[in-house]
Amino acid sequence: MDTFEIKKSDEEWRKLLSPVQFNILREKGTEHPYTGEYDKFFEEGTYYCAACGTELFTSKTKFNSGCGWPAFYEPSINKNIVKKRDVSHGMMRIEVMCAKCGGHLGHVFEDGPEPTGLRYCINSGSLRFEAGKKK
Ligand code: FE
Repeated sequence: MDTFEIKKSDEEWRKLLSPVQFNILREKGTEHPYTGEYDKFFEEGTYYCAACGTELFTSKTKFNSGCGWPAFYEPSINKNIVKKRDVSHGMMRIEVMCAKCGGHLGHVFEDGPEPTGLRYCINSGSLRFEAGKKK
């Protein structure tokens, strides 16, 4: 396992996260498509890691991918996200994690819109949204 700045035991994370959040962030689970609270959600604001509060995405790069999960074409701050090859479930994918706590967020695919051509396919359960413009 990689070393992340924020390190907690499963027991500690369970106290901080809901069962759904724990399953996604710590056990790399996936919420059912079209069920996440931020899937069809396009208010202006910022998305933070639900586990540690690190800024991850903004509404400016969110788009309606139709795939059933929130999608962004670019992270808010590149260094706040780490990518890792994931060969689970018989697929070759790139996993996306919070760089501070190692929480699983989702995957990134190369079928997104301009300007990046990327689609960060992220579980709503790994995010916490705050409305409004950033200061
Ligand atoms: Fe985090």
